[in-house]
Amino acid sequence: MYKLSYEYKDNIPVFKCNFCGHCSKILESTSHTTTENRGCCWYFPKYTLVDIKNILDMEKKNFILALLNMKNAVINKYSIEVIGNFDEEKYLNFIKENPDSIEDNFDPKLFFRVCAFFRPNGCHLDFRLRPHPCNLYLCRTVIGCCEEEYKNFSRERKDYFSYCNYFNESIRQTLMDAKVNLQSAPFKALEIIENFEMPPFGEKELKSISFNEKRS
Ligand code: SF4
Ligand code: SF4
Repeated sequence: MYKLSYEYKDNIPVFKCNFCGHCSKILESTSHTTTENRGCCWYFPKYTLVDIKNILDMEKKNFILALLNMKNAVINKYSIEVIGNFDEEKYLNFIKENPDSIEDNFDPKLFFRVCAFFRPNGCHLDFRLRPHPCNLYLCRTVIGCCEEEYKNFSRERKDYFSYCNYFNESIRQTLMDAKVNLQSAPFKALEIIENFEMPPFGEKELKSISFNEKRS
C-alpha cells in the first residue's frame, strides 16, 4: 500500500506521496536521461511572486539571492525560472528514430529533461523552497489510484492555485506602481515583496489516502 498525505507549513501546502520515487516504469516518469528514477522532476521550476514572498517571509532571503545569482536562472520581471538539463542530442536522435512520438499535445522532450535541483535520492530542496506547482502536482497514475478520494486534494490544489494567481497579480501591480521589477532593481523589488501584506491561505484538514498501485 502507498499513501498520499497533506502537510501545511509557512503558508505552503504540500502533497506527500510515497509512491513517488518508485514510479520509473510509468509513462509520466519516463526518463531517457542518465537519471533513471527522476519521477516527474523534468519540470524546470519557476518561482512566482507568491513563492518568493513565502520564502522571504520565512526569512530565507539568502535562498532568493542565490537563485538570482545562479548561472542557469532566467530572471524575468516578475518570476525566476531555473533551467535544468536537457539532452538535446539524445532527443534529436530519438525523434529521428521515432517520428510518430510527437503528437499534437505531447512532445517527448520531457523524457530528456531533469530539474537542476534533482539529486539521486530526489529533490534536494526543503518543500518550502520549491515553487508551488512542485508541491501540488500528482501524475495521472497516482490520481487514478486514489479514485474518488482524490477530490478533496484536487479542490485544495485548485484553491491554492487561485490564491497564488490572485496575489501574484496584486504583488505585480504593487511593483508596477513603484516602477520596479526583479530585472530592473531586484533588491528594491524584494523589499517591496517582503513588505506586501498577504493574508495566509490557511491550513485544511485533509484525510490521508491509502492506495494500491494495482487500482489504476
Ligand atoms: S507524481 Fe507520479 S510521476 Fe511524479 S514522482 Fe510521483 S508517482 Fe512519479
Ligand atoms: S524543484 Fe524539486 S520537486 Fe521541483 S522539479 Fe525540481 S527536483 Fe522536482
